[in-house]
Amino acid sequence: MHPRSQLASLGVHAKKRFGQNFLTSPHWSQTLVDTLLEGMTPAAVWEIGPGLGALTEGLTKKSPVAPCVFEIDRNLCAYLRERFPGIDLVEGDFLKWEPREPLDRVLVLGNLPYNVSSPIFFKLLEWKSSILRMVLTFQREFARRLLAKPTTPDYGGTGVVAQTFYELQSLGVIPPGAFYPKPDVDSEAICFEPKADPRVDRTAFLRLVREAFSHRRKMLLKNLSHHYGKDKLLAVFETLGISSKARAEELSPGQFLDLAESLLPSRS
Ligand code: SAM
Repeated sequence: MHPRSQLASLGVHAKKRFGQNFLTSPHWSQTLVDTLLEGMTPAAVWEIGPGLGALTEGLTKKSPVAPCVFEIDRNLCAYLRERFPGIDLVEGDFLKWEPREPLDRVLVLGNLPYNVSSPIFFKLLEWKSSILRMVLTFQREFARRLLAKPTTPDYGGTGVVAQTFYELQSLGVIPPGAFYPKPDVDSEAICFEPKADPRVDRTAFLRLVREAFSHRRKMLLKNLSHHYGKDKLLAVFETLGISSKARAEELSPGQFLDLAESLLPSRS
């Protein structure tokens, strides 16, 4: 059934504040679910924001374990419970959820609400070592930042962090017509494969990257001096072959990692 009719039969409207744009394209539902599950033997499969079940349907059919879904909208939760009786449904804000048991071999799927994509991405990063793969859909502008290469306008802290911790692969641009209601912008789906954890402390690395890009037009040396000391930085830059005049946007994610390994304490 088309989401318009599904919503009408429930007597509700799509809610902007929850970023509700429901997928209407069977092609994209299948692509996202199949990419997530391909070759994997997960212990848990999550879907963030199942909405009216466009992805949940394929997941429940194809996943080797019963999915756990996280939905904030109460009206939709009632509908999902009825439509997928065996499902493990967590009602509430995913951003406030904490696991009660240690996580193990998790797959994560989500056509994410645009307004909270970034916090959800960073929350998932905390659990990276327990995650096998993630397939997530974003507003295209945010996806471009995740995938951006050095010296391009979209390149910044988000891309450095994403590319340091994951192998990213774009699954393609999804046009507004693949959703109801139609969003104003394109979306893009990305598959994330976690890389081995770097040797540096993750929180300290995130801070370093944030500070490096704090004033984009200023030199990296200037942005980092306050925290790490100019003399130490100059010595590290020389060892790593980084120009003292370089700006943050000129460094690759690999160079950021080299820098972090020279400046930050190792992960305990
Ligand atoms: N997966 C469905 C689809 O593809 O048609 C719905 C996608 S819609 C873009 C985003 C969904 O996330 C909505 O169902 C919305 O209610 C839900 N949502 C929004 N914010 C949320 C949050 N903080 N925690 C859990 N779910 C949330």
